[in-house]
Amino acid sequence: MIPLWAGRTRRLIAVLLIVPPLWNVAFSKQPSAATVVALDPSVTAGVGAALEFVEYEAENGATNGHIVGPDRTFTTLASEASGRRAVLLEGHGDFVEFTLSAAANAVTVRYAVPDGREGKPVDARLAVYAQGYRIAELAVTSRYCCYYGRYPFTKHPADGKGHHFFDHARILLHKVLPAGTVVRLMSGPGKQAAWYAIDLVDFEMVPAPLRRPSRSLSVVDFGADPNGELDSRQAFSKAIAAASTSGRPLWVPPGNFRLDGHVQVDRVEIAGAGPWYSTLHGEGVGLYGHDAPNASQAVDIHDLAIIGEVNERDDHKPLAGIGGALGGGSRIRNLFIQHVKVGIWLDGPFDGLVIRHIRVLDTTADGLNLHRGISNVIVEESFFRNNGDDGIASWAEKLANHDLIIRHNTVVAPILANGVAIYGGHDIAVSDNLISDTLTEGGGLHLGNRFRAVPLSGKISLKGNMVVRGGSFDPHWHIGVGAVWLYALDAPIKAQIDLQTTTLLDSSQEAVLLIGKRIDGLVVDGLRVDRAGGSLIELRADGNATLSRVEAAGVLDPAVRTCGAFLLEWKGSNNMLNTSSAHGC
Ligand code: CA
Repeated sequence: MIPLWAGRTRRLIAVLLIVPPLWNVAFSKQPSAATVVALDPSVTAGVGAALEFVEYEAENGATNGHIVGPDRTFTTLASEASGRRAVLLEGHGDFVEFTLSAAANAVTVRYAVPDGREGKPVDARLAVYAQGYRIAELAVTSRYCCYYGRYPFTKHPADGKGHHFFDHARILLHKVLPAGTVVRLMSGPGKQAAWYAIDLVDFEMVPAPLRRPSRSLSVVDFGADPNGELDSRQAFSKAIAAASTSGRPLWVPPGNFRLDGHVQVDRVEIAGAGPWYSTLHGEGVGLYGHDAPNASQAVDIHDLAIIGEVNERDDHKPLAGIGGALGGGSRIRNLFIQHVKVGIWLDGPFDGLVIRHIRVLDTTADGLNLHRGISNVIVEESFFRNNGDDGIASWAEKLANHDLIIRHNTVVAPILANGVAIYGGHDIAVSDNLISDTLTEGGGLHLGNRFRAVPLSGKISLKGNMVVRGGSFDPHWHIGVGAVWLYALDAPIKAQIDLQTTTLLDSSQEAVLLIGKRIDGLVVDGLRVDRAGGSLIELRADGNATLSRVEAAGVLDPAVRTCGAFLLEWKGSNNMLNTSSAHGC
């Protein structure tokens, strides 16, 4: 059961703290969660993915419902919300409404509705009104929400506290709402949920369907059913083989194609009409390359949606939207992926892939995982929200990943682990990413020698990244995990690690944490920390680092805390409340 009353109690306390006396601002125990809208361009200034939608936080809309939060305590509803606040609609007539700042013809809502008795899924509806007229209904459900107890979690309320509350619903409105339109969400009609929590709404202007590529083959001509009634796997397999052999693109027209399992792809272009029009949907749906070391080559998948029905976390089941091994100049572009275990999970070794402009929502594990021996990959301009584990992970298990570029991506509200995590490997660049609202057992940006990874080496560049409300209180260690954190407990870290021009806003605990045996080679140049609920930098390792251009304000403990034998070298200008180091953690 969700402890909503607890969230409300905290809200009352938070309201009392909203205008603290001036002397208390810098040292507020609980930094205000509501002051930074992570996707506001005035805050992010070019960091993160370029988005085709405008995000509206529900708590900033007009409502006669209750606002829950702010709260960062794992297992509360508000802690999983973007901005750590959401609007709760409980009674008939409760609403939340938004005034559009730009024209839109589509809406995506991040919402929660509660399970029924004993975890039974509940289906309900949300009505969408524009200027007072009902224009659409959104089907919402608790089917993909509500896990209980400890990892790897269950669907049974008796197994422990609930979490993983939110899901997304989207709809194309088939009419354009001009800027200035007031859009209202209300419960109903018909069967209603016990309550609805609205975290945020994305409004966007979806372009017309793309046209069929010249010379292309169509999956429909091979028997695929665009009405989603028949399983189209065989038709897709035949069509892919024909397209690959003939060197012609394969067209997936507008429609809903049921694929109850994987389809293999190799040396083929699969083109949809756009991720709002051409949908692959089904139980176990996925497009998979051949297994390494015989990776598929020259695959190009673009402009479609892959929507599964995964509502459990089973680490032994291959339930990714895109999977296998895809190298040799393969490309994955402009996809919408939802309700799968992992959006894209690739197993190397293979070389040469670009992932660009994908949107991955509502996974039960990672958003994207590059697993072992993968090289020369670019991941860029992609958006991840409500992922059940790391948003973006590079996991060099036993075989090093290397020469990866992860740039201009946005990760919002991963409900376990980290925003971007690099587990081992060498020569990896992570730049200009935006991460917000990490929750538990992780932080924003993470480097780790862990999970049997080949230790980090070579040059690891972390540049121009921003983390908003990152870090968490670790329930096992009982210490704060940093918005940026390095983990060397399994093996020492010895690499050229450049942490440059990094912005950490409103961190939940420590701003930066180094933990482990020994960490050598960290160079921090340009670190701006604006509020943190722990210390500025905590060094729970031996090793050495140099720091320059460090700015800090509003940090609970504005010291660099050294627990082991760590050699810090300060260079250049630093603007901190307290530039001296403190001993003891
Ligand atoms: Ca929110």
